[in-house]
Amino acid sequence: MNGDSFKTEQATERSNDPEYEEYVRKQLELARLRRERADQIARDKLHAQMVLVGAALLIIILIVAAIIRAGHKSEQAANTSSADKPFAHVEQTDKTEPKESETPEDASSGEQNVTEDTPYAGQAEGHTLVTENGITYVDGIMIVNKTFSLPSTYDPGLDPEAEQAFNDMAGTAWSEGITLWICSGYRSYDEQVSLFEGYVNMGGLDYADSVSARPGHSEHQSGLCMDINSTDFSFEYTAEAAWLAEHCAEYGFIIRFPRGKESITGYTYEPWHLRYVGVEAAQVMKAQDLCLEEYLGVTSDYADAPNNDEFIEKYGT
Ligand SMILES: [Zn+2]
Repeated sequence: MNGDSFKTEQATERSNDPEYEEYVRKQLELARLRRERADQIARDKLHAQMVLVGAALLIIILIVAAIIRAGHKSEQAANTSSADKPFAHVEQTDKTEPKESETPEDASSGEQNVTEDTPYAGQAEGHTLVTENGITYVDGIMIVNKTFSLPSTYDPGLDPEAEQAFNDMAGTAWSEGITLWICSGYRSYDEQVSLFEGYVNMGGLDYADSVSARPGHSEHQSGLCMDINSTDFSFEYTAEAAWLAEHCAEYGFIIRFPRGKESITGYTYEPWHLRYVGVEAAQVMKAQDLCLEEYLGVTSDYADAPNNDEFIEKYGT
C-alpha cells in the first residue's frame, strides 16, 4: 500500500461517511438559503424603488390635472358669464361696450350680454337670433347642429336643470314600471375630437360625417341632451321608448332627431336622444309635430356652417 492509494481510500471512506455527507448537505443548504435571501433582498429593493417612482408619477399627474382643471374653470367662468341658463330667453343685446369677461365676478353681474355679430346671416328669420361667445341662441334656445357649433372652450358639464328634469321624469316613469337611465350625457369637445378623428382616419371626412358629429357640432357638448338607456336601434321597440315619446315633453324634453325629419335635422331617427328645451317649447313642438330646426327656422347642414371650409381644409382629401 503506497501513500497515494491510502489517500484515495481515505477520501473514499470520508465520502461514504454519513456524518460527512450530512455536513456537506448542510453547507450546501446554507449556501442555497444565503443565495435566496440575497435574491429576496434585491427583489424587495427593486419593489420599493418601483413604488417610489409610481408615487412620484401619480403626484405629478395629479398636479398637472389640477392645473388643467383650474385653467378650464376660469375659461368656463368667462364663457358662461352671460348665459347661466342656456335656454333662458336672451333679449338684451348690449352692443355698446363689449368687455373682456375673464374674471368669475363678471359671471354674477348679469350685465355681460356681450353680443357678437352673428356669422349666421339668413338663419332664423322672424325669430331672435343671438350669438354670444360663439354660442347661438334662437328665441333663447341654444342651437347646436350641423350649421351651428359651440366653441372648443365651452365645457359646461351636464346642465343641472336638465338633469333635475330627467330625474323628475325618471321618478314618474319608475312608478309606472318604466326604468330610464342616462347612458350618455355630457361629452366634451376634446372627446368629440378623438371620436371624430378616429372615424376620419378610418374612412375620410365624408365617412366621419356620416357616422359622427364634427367637434363643436355635437349636441352632447351643450350639456342639454342625453341618450337614454341604449343607443341601439332596437330601443325603438321597447316600452321605455314608447313612454318617452309620449311623456318626455311634459318634462321639457324633445326626441331631437324624429323619424321623417332626417333631411331637416341632418340625422337619422334616434329614439334615445333627448334634448332639453323647457316644457313650453317641448309641448308646442310635440303638438305641432315640429323638430327643433323647424321650430326655430334654422338649417342643419355643414354647407351652411361658417367653419365648413376649416374642416374641409383640415380633414378633407
Ligand atoms: Zn345622443
